[in-house]
Amino acid sequence: MKAQKIAVRNPATEEIVGEVPNQSPQEVSAAVARARAAFPLWRATPAHEKARLLHDVAQGLRDHAEKLARILTREGGKPLRENRDEMDWSASCFDYYAGICRQQRGRVIPSIEPSQLAFILHEPYGVVGAIVPWNYPILLAAWKIAPALAAGNTVVLKPPQQTPLSTVACRAIYSGLPLGVVEIVTGAGRLTGEALIRHPGTDLIAFTGSLEVGRHIAEICARTVKKAHLELGGKDAFVVCADSDLGVAAKAVAWAAFLNAGQVCTSTERVYVHSSIYAEFLERLKAFTESLVVGDGLRPKTDVGPLIGAEVRRKVEEHVADALRRGARLVCGGKRPKGLKRGFFYEPTVLAGVDHGMKVMREETFGPVCPVMAYEDFDEALRLVNDSPYGLGANLYTRDAQTVKRFFEGVQAGTIWVNDPLTDNDAGPFGGFKASGGSRELGEEGLREFQQAKHVHWDFEQKAKPWWYPYG
Ligand code: NAP
Ligand code: MG
Repeated sequence: MKAQKIAVRNPATEEIVGEVPNQSPQEVSAAVARARAAFPLWRATPAHEKARLLHDVAQGLRDHAEKLARILTREGGKPLRENRDEMDWSASCFDYYAGICRQQRGRVIPSIEPSQLAFILHEPYGVVGAIVPWNYPILLAAWKIAPALAAGNTVVLKPPQQTPLSTVACRAIYSGLPLGVVEIVTGAGRLTGEALIRHPGTDLIAFTGSLEVGRHIAEICARTVKKAHLELGGKDAFVVCADSDLGVAAKAVAWAAFLNAGQVCTSTERVYVHSSIYAEFLERLKAFTESLVVGDGLRPKTDVGPLIGAEVRRKVEEHVADALRRGARLVCGGKRPKGLKRGFFYEPTVLAGVDHGMKVMREETFGPVCPVMAYEDFDEALRLVNDSPYGLGANLYTRDAQTVKRFFEGVQAGTIWVNDPLTDNDAGPFGGFKASGGSRELGEEGLREFQQAKHVHWDFEQKAKPWWYPYG
């Protein structure tokens, strides 16, 4: 028998802080039916009206930001100030697509003969099924809902089971939209999520999550040729060149590796430092890492919160143990913090002397672990960066323009950050190469993912075709 409710646990205290219904396939079906019924009306809604309603959602997210940020910290562990940022970025995404939705245009293309007009239109798919993970549940939903609605689709969203309370609390904000334009169904991925994917009434599945689940979803979608929009895992690299300001670079690496306790898809999970600065860089990284305060994200002084759960912490411990067994050196961290008896905490950890035979350099760790490896020349660094099944983002620290050019031309990743790690910009596409998924969110590219092109060929004179094709 399936559980009727799913309990939500605070990962900092292990206390239950709420529950949501584990909704059945029948309930998913009813939500999809409401979204389908809303689709023709929403599609026909004038662009300026859609834009106004999307701005209203942005304002609603801002008006309730503090309350929602606190819920996010209680259910997901992320420090409060990071969750305030999440709310801010989510609102900004709705504003961006409100603006872009007024600027949508087709395009006239050269026609074959003078009596003809040929043009391209971009049309919505219909009902989008959206599934997101627990690390940024409000933001990653915004990255799907805002462009999907701007493109004229309606959406059924399934939040993650670890952090559904913030999404449920957003229902009131989405209720400013016409009924059925945004539906929320809660429950387990295997039950509720899969029902949404398999439902014949969903036309596109937009998924952010692990490679494993993404592959499973793509297989289900392939059977009915339903489009799967996939944002999957990463193993982002950070290259620090010898010309860098080491103090700044060490802080930048620590931030990119330990933000949200390393549970970011674009977390820095591999660092390559030029051999001439390797020892000094490690010293500075160690000093800064040891100054970070680990604790409950509701405390204002906390820099690094807990991991989301016992299973994620077990994987982190396994990766560190594997690295140490294979000859890595522990620079700092490497254990559960003393004094925090409850909660899924793990100390921010730096490893040196690592190589690509270790799990910590090959598989997604998704925790506060920063393995640092020395390189001799830049070709070697480029080869190491690309030696990964993933290709989400990549970071570089240098002041040399030639090096920057070689990096952005040579690296197989969807986002390249030079001297400023992990900055998202609503106007620029985000997504991965290789096993990171291949889809894009944000920017005009993010809108196009939720539209299909239609080519109209119109001749003002009626013609009959001969049986043979006349063009050669
Ligand atoms: P996950 O296990 O793949 O879960 C993601 C979502 O999929 C959750 O809502 C989950 O529901 C649902 N789900 C699980 N099994 C399903 C199934 N059989 N059918 C339909 N839905 C299903 O991911 P996670 O471990 O929670 O999240 C971390 C992963 O997300 C990492 O790999 C990270 O890199 C990736 N990520 C990628 C991006 C990006 O933009 N590329 C951004 C953030 C995170 P339940 O919660 O109910 O299981
Ligand atoms: Mg999971």
